[in-house]
Amino acid sequence: MMDLIETERILKLAIKNSENLKCEGEVASYIPELANVDQDNFGVSLTTTEGETVSLGDDKFKISIQSISKVIDLIMALEDVGAEKVFSKVGTEPTEYKFNSLIPIEEKVVNPFLNAGAITTSSLISGSDVINKFNRVMKKVSELSNGDEVTFLEEVYKSEMRTTDRNRSIAYYLKSIGIIEGNAEEILDLYVRGCSIGLNVRQLSTIGAVLANGGRSLDNKVQLVEKEVVKTTLALMATCGMYEESGKYLIEVGFPSKSGVGGAILGIIPGKCGVCTYSPRLDESGNSIRGKKVLAEISKTLDLNIFI
Ligand code: GLU
Repeated sequence: MMDLIETERILKLAIKNSENLKCEGEVASYIPELANVDQDNFGVSLTTTEGETVSLGDDKFKISIQSISKVIDLIMALEDVGAEKVFSKVGTEPTEYKFNSLIPIEEKVVNPFLNAGAITTSSLISGSDVINKFNRVMKKVSELSNGDEVTFLEEVYKSEMRTTDRNRSIAYYLKSIGIIEGNAEEILDLYVRGCSIGLNVRQLSTIGAVLANGGRSLDNKVQLVEKEVVKTTLALMATCGMYEESGKYLIEVGFPSKSGVGGAILGIIPGKCGVCTYSPRLDESGNSIRGKKVLAEISKTLDLNIFI
């Protein structure tokens, strides 16, 4: 059981101690709509596996989850077609290449958290057409975030669809080598829709808490994600979730996490809690600068590192 008053005190302190980083880094602008946010905005939320949440700062703003959707794509692909099929197409190893790189694709995609990997896992999500598949994704996200309303950020979606030449080439390349089957445009569309899901920090930390709870709902009544799928997903988040900085981040913070270029980082501390930070200014890798600092600090003070 976590002491919520102490948790809130520590979160406040971490926010204060990260104020010096408030103006460091740049918001992502290669998807033009992502640059239209309040650059100084900040929010943090922690949800325990018992279902209690402490949140501070802006806990209402609907963040474009971007790459955090890759966690959902992976979960759904694993549940829909099984690990054997997923990992016959996508590897499980970290990489030093950037998230949208074409280099580590060659014959097999290196991991599910590169764009190529998530385009591949998206191609494995079941459904009759894109809209049906995306509705399934939205339903899953809604279940995992405790039934709260999940937003589709249409402007972000349109903005990315207008500028996503690189992902389009990745999708067509994957199709040409037989890794994805079906219509490359539709698979790309599903992938970009997932990136355009809008969730606030409280919803994200709730999703984290469900995964920290072994995939069970926080009232322990429903198994929302298969245990085996949770195990695989968390292992990959730990090793590959923070782009080409995943190793360094794991040393400093010490729990499975996934970040997105929208500025959120979702962390999962098995058996304890889910935590999410939001601050849209990013470092070169695409990780939120202030978010990383807050997570490193609370990992230490709340004793959340899974290795020590
Ligand atoms: N939609 C973004 C892209 O495909 C996601 C990138 C990210 O958050 O890492 O480029």
